[in-house]
Amino acid sequence: MFKYGLEEQISKEDVESVLSREKFSQSDFLALISPQANDYLEVMAQKAQSLTKRFFGQTRGIYIPLYLSNACHNNCSYCGFSSSNIIRRKTLKLEEIKNELLSIYKRGYRNILLVSGELKDFNNIDYLNRATKLAVEVGFSSVAVEFGALESDQARLLQESGADQFVLYQETYHPPTYKDVHISGQKSNLNYRIEGVERSIEAGFKKVTLGFLGGLFDYRFEALTLFSHLRYLKSNFWNISFSISIPRLQNAFGLEEIKYPLEDRDFVRVLLAFRLAFPQMPILLSTRESETIRGHLLNLCATNISAESKTSPGDNNLEQFSVTDNRSLEEIIISLKEMGLNPCFKDWDELLPRLHNYHQNR
Ligand code: SF4
Repeated sequence: MFKYGLEEQISKEDVESVLSREKFSQSDFLALISPQANDYLEVMAQKAQSLTKRFFGQTRGIYIPLYLSNACHNNCSYCGFSSSNIIRRKTLKLEEIKNELLSIYKRGYRNILLVSGELKDFNNIDYLNRATKLAVEVGFSSVAVEFGALESDQARLLQESGADQFVLYQETYHPPTYKDVHISGQKSNLNYRIEGVERSIEAGFKKVTLGFLGGLFDYRFEALTLFSHLRYLKSNFWNISFSISIPRLQNAFGLEEIKYPLEDRDFVRVLLAFRLAFPQMPILLSTRESETIRGHLLNLCATNISAESKTSPGDNNLEQFSVTDNRSLEEIIISLKEMGLNPCFKDWDELLPRLHNYHQNR
């Protein structure tokens, strides 16, 4: 179990004192994510809600993921797409991608996340790049890409084609766990992955999403390391907008057990702590979470949610993981409005410079 050396000495008085501050050290953050803070959950929730309201108003962004391929050369013990799993592999053809993009666009979405398994030797950068260009051509105002850790020149290609957000989860920051769960493939190189964030920034991305996968190791270690990673990145790249997401491990083909389940109360406390520590940072929530928990968190600290996620490419039935919130876009919009929140589909600020970039690089 995680031993940072301080967590067992944290008292309720420490938590109370931390809550009176506006800036947090590592040990302050540890106090906020520790179970000792449970008695102060309501205070944390109120503070987080007020910060979210101050910096994001009532607006909540909605995006949709599109899976391009479930082919992957990596073997990750927690993922249905692992190369060791005997499953039907499917990589969407460009024509299929275009049809999916058009149909998603017609549904009203303007923010899209393109996701793909990591294909052998990354020879498909051309394919991923063409998919990115198609999304821009169809008219999406924000195109986020989640294709694994890339070389700078590969990331630059995507950025120049109009992708505006680079998504790269570390999965786990704990080296022994990282080694255990990333059995083979390029992803088994922890440093290559962690440095992928900076390579994407060198490549020109101004928006970067990072996070860990809850359930692989002790959440306190992961959250504290993510906090330190963000602090380091923010001090070195002041002009980059960082956002986080902490997806929780769900059932997946080939996954035997979740060794460190991240329970609801701990999950909520961790996200509240991130809001208190980084008041202006977007926090994303995926459809792995239930309607109930997404509703609570959107009220308190989450700013962007995915909708209508299908975690497999095309009509392939094998999902990367199970989705919990299966509501339609219309149902999500109604429920946001009932909470007094405004669903937002488009980031106007980003659109014009990106279109300019795209036309310059055609
Ligand atoms: S987690 Fe990503 S890299 Fe690992 S097997 Fe799944 S798709 Fe491939």
